[in-house]
Amino acid sequence: MKSAYKIFIIIFLLGFTSNSFGYHPDEKKPGDDKKGKGKAKDDTTSHKIEISENIDCEEEGMETESISFPSNDLYASWDTTMAHPYNFNEIFKLDSVEIDFINPGENYFVMPFKGNKTSEFGWRKRRPHYGTDIDLETGDTVRAAFDGMIRIAKVAYGYGNCIIIRHNNGLETVYGHLSRMDVEVGKIVKAGDVIGLGGNTGRSTGSHLHWEIRYAGQALDANDLVDFNTGCLKDNCFVLKKTDVANKYDLRALKNRHRKDVGLTKAELAYAKKVGGKIYKVKSGDTLSAIAKRHHTTVSSLCKKNKIRENSILRLGQLLKI
Ligand SMILES: [Zn+2]
Repeated sequence: MKSAYKIFIIIFLLGFTSNSFGYHPDEKKPGDDKKGKGKAKDDTTSHKIEISENIDCEEEGMETESISFPSNDLYASWDTTMAHPYNFNEIFKLDSVEIDFINPGENYFVMPFKGNKTSEFGWRKRRPHYGTDIDLETGDTVRAAFDGMIRIAKVAYGYGNCIIIRHNNGLETVYGHLSRMDVEVGKIVKAGDVIGLGGNTGRSTGSHLHWEIRYAGQALDANDLVDFNTGCLKDNCFVLKKTDVANKYDLRALKNRHRKDVGLTKAELAYAKKVGGKIYKVKSGDTLSAIAKRHHTTVSSLCKKNKIRENSILRLGQLLKI
């Protein structure tokens, strides 16, 4: 430890959300105060935990420092039960936010595991894949990407053994399919600290690390922040724009918009699902070559898939398998 001070860290645990914790019968539920009294000063839904941490003391005197949970100004709750309790659109009111990655003299970022990428952020087998998969062997050490505090350390859905760290820069990182978890909720970690071992738990075929970077619950494409070849951050800061969320990161919204753009009816959608793959609905002015070009395929491939000839006349509204 670098610090020569004895630091007492006092942590205020505020604002549990109603959906994350059950209420004791003697606790108020949100809204009980609605009838004109305003917020009670003695809020029974707020909890306070004091943790004192002894860091070597070489100098005389003590300093008392108060810190809250990492990025508590951004997140309304510190939820240790749900992996993703946040609603990005409720939290993110700005057009953009700058996330700074500068911490002179210390490791700011450490690659959780240096291995080959085996799957990217995006749609995969009709499921949104919110992380980047990194190849590893069961038992390989997995490290915290940034400084932060452990928010989740438990089995969580398809993630299997899952650790989620809230960081001081506003980001949260998710580590899935672990074979062992070496940290507990509330533990403060530094970038590069070992948090567990890689594995194959949860919905996983073959040992790998499923790694996500999220901001206010919204998963981001790690490739936009991290150079996987060098294992370093791409820049000293990252600007997250609301337009990028709409155009790149919000996978479900993108898929719905694509369906609308393509203009498929419900019945046509069902047909598309049945035949599998992509379906295109012919619009006015379309030609086979233009459709092929737009979808990065060839006219002969389109003809073969749809049992038509190259000089076939396309009908408006005709469905083509791409
Ligand atoms: Zn994955």
